[in-house]
Amino acid sequence: MTDAIVVEGLVKSFGTTEVLRGIDLSVAPGEVVCVIGPSGSGKSTLLRCINLLEIPSAGRICPLGVEITDPDCELDALRRRIGMVFQQFNLFGHLTVRRNLTIAQRRVLHRTRAEADRVATDALARVGLADKADAYPAHLSGGQQQRVAIARALAMGPELMLFDEPTSALDPELVGEVLTVMRELAEGGMTMLVVTHEMAFARQVADRVVFMDGGVLVESGPPDQVLVAPREERTRAFLHRVL
Ligand code: ADP
Ligand code: MG
Repeated sequence: MTDAIVVEGLVKSFGTTEVLRGIDLSVAPGEVVCVIGPSGSGKSTLLRCINLLEIPSAGRICPLGVEITDPDCELDALRRRIGMVFQQFNLFGHLTVRRNLTIAQRRVLHRTRAEADRVATDALARVGLADKADAYPAHLSGGQQQRVAIARALAMGPELMLFDEPTSALDPELVGEVLTVMRELAEGGMTMLVVTHEMAFARQVADRVVFMDGGVLVESGPPDQVLVAPREERTRAFLHRVL
């Protein structure tokens, strides 16, 4: 079976600063991989390279069997198959929740209004917000807005989802509802690469945890190994600081 993500020898520099220094990572279909590590270690840059929001300086990146570092690759067609959820929800404030979910379906996937509405209704039900279709984002809590952002990604029918600290901007009491939705997605078989500081989530939901520091992948393994009995001193020191 083709891996859902293959990253080989990924290097990314901004000017003279090497932010990713040779990353090798693969994610199998249906696998949930959590990426942890200190601020500035390159986690967001790694995610952004995977759907080519950043151009790699060197290396090979192949999500969903498509070699995106190949100049002939059809990037737009590929990006549609990858859902991305950011720390900031980036909803359109002037549109209702339903329209936030249908606009890309209509414009990018050319679905009819009826079809897009039906998919939006299903996606909102999956995140527990079936009753909010006519609300505007400003009238929702941060947790609800992030669930709308997840539903918006789901409405495009992604085969793979990338999450970049999806709960970091939320008040503590709103984190749980977003993690619950993510846990359900994982249990439903979605392939997920999740940058997170939520260690309990990583421990319970991840098939594998990857620790990054200074632009390298320091350690990777099952959650009970990396989070409980890490092999590397740098991982141990990081966990000591955050736990
Ligand atoms: P993390 O998500 O782990 O906190 P990032 O991937 O955001 O780390 O950043 C890694 C390093 O790359 C940081 O030192 C950051 O300042 C730098 N960086 C990220 N994006 C850019 C950019 N567009 N231009 C210059 N430096 C950047
Ligand atoms: Mg980041």
